[in-house]
Amino acid sequence: MDAHLNDIYDAVIRRNPGEPEFHQAVESLFGSLAVALGRHPEYADDALVERMCEPERQIIFRVPWADDSGRIHVNRGYRVQFSSVLGPYKGGLRFHPSVNLGIIKFLGFEQIYKNALTGLPIGGGKGGSDFDPKGRSDREVMRFCQSFMTELQRHIGEHTDVPAGDIGVGQREIGYLFGQYMRLKNAHESGVITGKGISWGGSLVRKEATGYGVAYFVSNVLESAGDSLDGKRVVVSGSGNVAIYAIEKVQQQGGIVVACSDSSGYIVTEKGIDVPLLKDIKERRRARIHTYADESGSATFVRDGSVWDVDCDVALPCATQNELDHTAAETLARNGCTIVAEGANMPVTPAGVRTLRQAGVKFGPGKAANAGGVATSALEMQQNASRDSWHFDYTDQRLESIMSDIFQRCRDTAETYGAPDDYVLGANIAGFTTVADAMCALGVV
Ligand code: GLU
Repeated sequence: MDAHLNDIYDAVIRRNPGEPEFHQAVESLFGSLAVALGRHPEYADDALVERMCEPERQIIFRVPWADDSGRIHVNRGYRVQFSSVLGPYKGGLRFHPSVNLGIIKFLGFEQIYKNALTGLPIGGGKGGSDFDPKGRSDREVMRFCQSFMTELQRHIGEHTDVPAGDIGVGQREIGYLFGQYMRLKNAHESGVITGKGISWGGSLVRKEATGYGVAYFVSNVLESAGDSLDGKRVVVSGSGNVAIYAIEKVQQQGGIVVACSDSSGYIVTEKGIDVPLLKDIKERRRARIHTYADESGSATFVRDGSVWDVDCDVALPCATQNELDHTAAETLARNGCTIVAEGANMPVTPAGVRTLRQAGVKFGPGKAANAGGVATSALEMQQNASRDSWHFDYTDQRLESIMSDIFQRCRDTAETYGAPDDYVLGANIAGFTTVADAMCALGVV
């Protein structure tokens, strides 16, 4: 980081105390920017980088709701509208007890550059709540979502801000949120939220898109070296929406996923994951991962262990931030892993990234590798705007070609800056310059 960026980073830390994840996301972008600012001095003018680090708007609100016994709970709701230079704010909602302003700001900051990389007209935002949907009945989740949307509705709109899902927010929650929005607005504005069900304005492939996109990104990395996923041993962390569909697509492309996890531990199976069984356990029954070992007859459950101890060619962290540290990175490299791609947002710690790169492991950062989800949200917005609905294969082809364009942009940009295969540098600079050029054109706002 050069002196100018260092000063800005110090100010970010000072002005945003107690938000380590946000600091980490800013530091990881800044780590790549010195060379870009060297070639484009105009990006250092008009406090452009400082403005990028300050959300356009941050909303925090009270969310009261009644549980099934009539007891009232109070949660906190957030929406951080970070950047609207490329399009309406776009990014998911996360419902998880760990959610706080710093986590939403890190996610919103990442989202700006990720969305820029898709090449589609979407700005960056993120929201959520410290509400924990785990163990709550459908009715409790519904009442929470209705209360959350009663406040959020005044800040969103198809041309303003378009939320979607993230951890803890799937189609069930999107349905309750959209239902309440419709009721309050007395209009069916389907473009206000994405991740909807197919019969009520959703897009085919949206559910699968983040996971499929990660697999497509990895395929591109392998193809650029004359290789493919065929026969590769793959380890995936998590077993939520991103993990399930990354596993499905990796196996469709000939890879064998030998392990996946949840917060209780991981399962290992030399036969590859039985995806229909995993979907039934996680999507329908919302049960724990040991159920997979109990029922598949061919998997072992390891309680509280690290899934990164399982040797593999490719590792896909698809659970949550900072889940793969430098020790895990060392283990992966020692066991022969050659590619790590982030399905989750910032799952590899900065020391983990350094360790992987020093060991020569190719690393796909989340803002590139997991951009397929938000890209397909933008395709859902296109279908809503034209009152159309596209076939699965067509939408999947669009996703595949967007992921391949993202990979090319990362690789070409990295090459231009003299660091081929440094996809972190490529993704950061390609995303940053897209946003910076638009900011220069739009003036100081
Ligand atoms: N939560 C997803 C992400 O991290 C998707 C957001 C969206 O579809 O708007 O990119």
